[in-house]
Amino acid sequence: MTAFVLTPPPAPTVAVAGSVARFPVHRIYCVGQNYAAHVREMGGDPARTPPIFFTKPADAVLADGADLPYPPCTANLHYEAELVVALGLGGRNIAPADALAHVYGYAVGNDFTRRDLQAAAKDQGRPWDAAKGFDHSAGISAIHPVGSTGHPRRGQIWLTVNGAERQRSDLDEMIWDVAGVIAELSCYWRLAPGDLIYTGTPHGVGPLVAGDVVVVGIEGLGTLTHRIVAIAAD
Ligand code: MN
Repeated sequence: MTAFVLTPPPAPTVAVAGSVARFPVHRIYCVGQNYAAHVREMGGDPARTPPIFFTKPADAVLADGADLPYPPCTANLHYEAELVVALGLGGRNIAPADALAHVYGYAVGNDFTRRDLQAAAKDQGRPWDAAKGFDHSAGISAIHPVGSTGHPRRGQIWLTVNGAERQRSDLDEMIWDVAGVIAELSCYWRLAPGDLIYTGTPHGVGPLVAGDVVVVGIEGLGTLTHRIVAIAAD
């Protein structure tokens, strides 16, 4: 039995719809700029700005219904409604035609972002980690196994803040579809069971403040709700 010099941290996990067993999170990958209208609202040209990849720490997952403490070191926290892919099988250089066989299930996600820090990082050619990979930055619903939902190739994706709609699009608007994202990601990293992939957000991103309730919905996958709460003064 392995001895540890510190108590090992708990393994991050996500609920699975219809099961008491949980999904163990290995890594969190994210796709940026995967809907053309969002690329344009961020000042890019979809024809010249290919989707990009970034990551979040595995323990950034924030369960449905949990409060999100307004993160420190930002004055412009943003929501991003996203489809999340949960992998059940790994591999590298996965062919697009084989990619969907690696999917365990799908979830509703919210890629919380410190937009001011991201804008500064872009301007200065610096990394996005502080903008994207902060504590609790990966909102995620229960995962729906493929056996119960199939592979959602189309379907409405929307987001509300305090009941007012802020984002609405369709999954078929993604520049790279799920199979294409898995295939491309697997060129850069050996993917593994337990990986989560946030597949990018549609247009309409915007700010959140303490007290807001943000809800993301995806047709066939249900909803994901978080309340933003003020940072504890500690
Ligand atoms: Mn995103």
